[in-house]
Amino acid sequence: MSKRFGLLGKTLDHSFSPEIHRMLADYEYQLYPVPEEQLAAFLKETDLDGFNVTIPYKQTVLRACDEVSETAQHIGSVNTVIKRNGRLYGYNTDFYGFFHLLGSESHYKKALVLGSGGASKAVQAVLEDSSIPFVVISRTGENNYTNLSLHRDADLIVNATPVGMYPENGEAPINLEDFPNCRRVLDLIYNPLKTALILQAEALGIKAENGLKMLVSQAANAAQLFEHNIYYVNRIEEVTDCLFRQQRNIALIGMPGCGKTTVGEKLAALSGRSLFDCDRELEKKLGMTIPEFFEKFGEAAFRKEETKLLLSLSQKTGIILSCGGGVVCREQNRDALKQNSIIVHLERPIEVLPSNGRPVTLERGLIALAAERMPKYRAWADVSFLNDDASNCAKTIQEALL
Ligand code: NAP
Repeated sequence: MSKRFGLLGKTLDHSFSPEIHRMLADYEYQLYPVPEEQLAAFLKETDLDGFNVTIPYKQTVLRACDEVSETAQHIGSVNTVIKRNGRLYGYNTDFYGFFHLLGSESHYKKALVLGSGGASKAVQAVLEDSSIPFVVISRTGENNYTNLSLHRDADLIVNATPVGMYPENGEAPINLEDFPNCRRVLDLIYNPLKTALILQAEALGIKAENGLKMLVSQAANAAQLFEHNIYYVNRIEEVTDCLFRQQRNIALIGMPGCGKTTVGEKLAALSGRSLFDCDRELEKKLGMTIPEFFEKFGEAAFRKEETKLLLSLSQKTGIILSCGGGVVCREQNRDALKQNSIIVHLERPIEVLPSNGRPVTLERGLIALAAERMPKYRAWADVSFLNDDASNCAKTIQEALL
C-alpha cells in the first residue's frame, strides 16, 4: 500500500503544500485541519505515515514527540513528524528551507532578523551555523523598531514577520533607505510574490528574494524524511519556478485599442485562468459606462477609482489582468501590479488603433496620447509582445510565460 502523508494545522485554506508535494513526489498528501481540542486525539490515533505541522501547533507537537532531532530541539519547534511503530519522531525542515534560500552567498558582516517567532528561530539557527553575526528586531525586545538606527550597518535583512503578507499587501516593516549598506533582502513571505519590502529593495537596486524557495526546500527536505533518503534537492529550482509561474498574474498594458481585452480573453481560454478586465470591472462597480463617468466626474476622479480597483485586483494570484489604457498615469498603480504580476506590454501599430468610445483618445488625439504614454508602457513593461493577430499573440504569450 502506498504511504500517506499530510499537513496538520488549525486552518489550512490556502496551503500550497499539497501542490508542492504532488510536484515533488508520488505519495498521497492531504490537508488535516484539526481544532485544538482534537489535537491530542489526532496525534495519538492518526494512521498517517508522517505529516508536516504548521501554525499554531509546531511547539505543541514538539512536546508530543517521542524523539526530537537536535535541530528541532534547538529551534524549539517541529514541522515534520514521522510515525514509526506508533512512535512520533519530530524534525524541523524550516532550517534546511532557509539554509537553501540563503544559498552559498553567505558572507555578511551583520544580519537583521525582523520578528522573533517560529520562522525567526529557524533563520537564527541557520545564521549561527553559517557564522553570520545577527541582531533580532522584536517589537518588545531591546532591539526594536524605535532604535533601528543602531543597525544602519546591516548588510543582510531577513523579514520573518507577517508584515506585508496577504491580505495586508503594501505594508513594510522597515524603510530600506535607513540601511545604506544593505545588499540583500530575504522576505519569508510568498503571498504576495513581491512584498512592499521586496519592491523597495528592487527600487534601490538591492538583491531580494521571497519565501517561495524556502517553502519548497523545506517540503523537499520533509519528502526526503518521509521517503527515507530519496533526495529531492535537484527538484527544488524546478518546483519553485513552476509554483511561481502558477501564482504569477499576467497584467496586460498598452494603448487604448491595442487588444488587451481580446488577447486577455483568448489567453484565459487557452490557459483556463480567470480574466479580470479592469474597465469592465470598473463599469460594474461605478454603475455606469466609463464615458458617462468621465462626463459626470472627470478624469481625476476616474483615476482614483481605477487605483482602488487595481489595489484590490492585484492581490489575486494566477489571473490575467487586462488594464485600462491609462493605468500608467499613476505611479502607485505600478507597485500594485508588480506585487503579483509580470507586466506585459501589447504593442500594435498606431495606424490600426481605434478611438471610438474612448474618451481620453477622443479628447487628446491618438498621436499625442501615444507620445505621452508609449514611453511609460515601455518603462513599466517586463516584456513586450507585438499584437498583429490576437490569437497568435495569446498563443505566443502562453508559450513564453505560462
Ligand atoms: P509567528 O510565529 O507568529 O512569528 C511572527 C513574528 O513576527 C512574531 O513573533 C512577532 O515578533 C512579529 N510580528 C507579528 N506581527 C507583527 C507586526 N504587526 N509588526 C511587526 N512584527 C510583527 O509566525 P512565523 O511562523 O514565524 O511566520 C512569520 C512569517 O514567515 C509569516 O509571514 C510566514 O508566512 C512566513 N514563513 C514562511 C516560511 C517559508 O517557508 N517561506 C516558513 C515559515 C514562515 P515580535 O513580537 O518579536 O516583534
